[in-house]
Amino acid sequence: MNVLVVGSGGREHALAWKINQSPRVDKVFVAPGNAGTAVDAINVDLDQSDHPALIEFAKSNNVGLVVVGPEAPLVAGLVDDMQEAGLKVFGPSSAAAELEGSKVFCKNLLRSADIPTADYRTFRAADDAMRYIKDRYSDPSDPVNVVVKADGLAAGKGVVVCETRSEALEAIDRIGARKEFGAAGKELIIEERLTGPEVSVLAITDGETILTLPTAQDHKPANDGDTGPNTGGMGAYSPAPVLDEQTLAEVESGILVPVVHAMKRARRPFKGVLYAGLMLTPAGPKVLEFNVRFGDPECQPLLMRLQSDIVDVMEAVADGRLGELESLTFDPRPAICVVMASEGYPGSYEKGHTITGIDAADEMEDVKVFHAGTSLAGDASDGKQAIVNSGGRVLGVTAMGDTISAAKLQAYKAVSKIRWQGAWCRKDISDKALAVAIT
Ligand code: ATP
Repeated sequence: MNVLVVGSGGREHALAWKINQSPRVDKVFVAPGNAGTAVDAINVDLDQSDHPALIEFAKSNNVGLVVVGPEAPLVAGLVDDMQEAGLKVFGPSSAAAELEGSKVFCKNLLRSADIPTADYRTFRAADDAMRYIKDRYSDPSDPVNVVVKADGLAAGKGVVVCETRSEALEAIDRIGARKEFGAAGKELIIEERLTGPEVSVLAITDGETILTLPTAQDHKPANDGDTGPNTGGMGAYSPAPVLDEQTLAEVESGILVPVVHAMKRARRPFKGVLYAGLMLTPAGPKVLEFNVRFGDPECQPLLMRLQSDIVDVMEAVADGRLGELESLTFDPRPAICVVMASEGYPGSYEKGHTITGIDAADEMEDVKVFHAGTSLAGDASDGKQAIVNSGGRVLGVTAMGDTISAAKLQAYKAVSKIRWQGAWCRKDISDKALAVAIT
């Protein structure tokens, strides 16, 4: 069988790499892919938003399974269009993907199903939201504990955690009045600010059966010690010791199962990867957000640990027979992924610098370098193509070890072999896990 993976990030490279390990798979195509998927799979130069071209390609290349990686094509209905064309697809419909595509939809569903989440109010007009803040915090110097969110997708930038009244008013103005994130700011949410460690719990579901994956945690801020501006994620590790077995079971029965049921009741059955972003508050785990796909970079350490055939699982989800499958098996050893980024990221950065040392890193035991923002430069005909950086997050250097420290050491050893002008990474990926493991 041939498989088509849609997307071009580190997550899609990890998916293509894992899918390629299935004995049932002949060819893995990635559209559009990156320089790494060009080695582990076959790149197809098609944009993820070009649904007719992707369908045409899948049909004429004997593709038996399509896997959609990122949220944008899921929310845009690529799965629906593919299914209508008779293709088998792993991923939620656009109606189900609203769980990520609309924070208002998500919060209302959580509230109606009585699933723990921060208290909130929704607003269509920026003026009303501002009045609400001014009424609630009548003294401008009062401490403020709210989070202002744009309803729609804003690449992780449409969320502002506010400590002062002027910060909250400024966020409402940017998102709701000046529409900095366009239509994503059509509605606003103002919610209670929660405290506690953040953790992600991912599950695979066909809308009936849920297979919860091992825990994982990412590092969103750009700098060491979880400081600096937020990014798409500077690294991740699995398992996350901050979430013990009992809390994980609580999350499964109190959050994941009721959400899957609520989606079914809302006639939006959810099939695919359900990703719960949680905060472990003093009152128990509460939902910050849902994503409707693997997190990037949490996907990389999780898939490195996965021992089961991922294609069997994805097909079972697409066919609605996940209940027939035995539980998934994972390597008990921890894995960590260190993201190497371009100079200047998450701000503007230069592209086109030649990257060296990837092969040497890849040859190390229990190491895999997943590509994200890379491309091939130069003339393919003379065999002298170089790998260059073409995005902010460039590589996800992923390693396993007997302990978190051993995995960390191995990952950073691999990182030290890789070079390009301006390359940088955080030096403390997984230290959060080590701190928990020690206490
Ligand atoms: P992404 O998709 O990049 O994870 P997003 O735009 O979907 O982000 P959220 O996950 O809802 O947005 O929020 C981003 C971050 O803001 C969270 O990871 C968390 O650190 C913080 N945050 C969100 N909601 C709250 C809250 N109620 N209390 C405290 N912090 C919050």
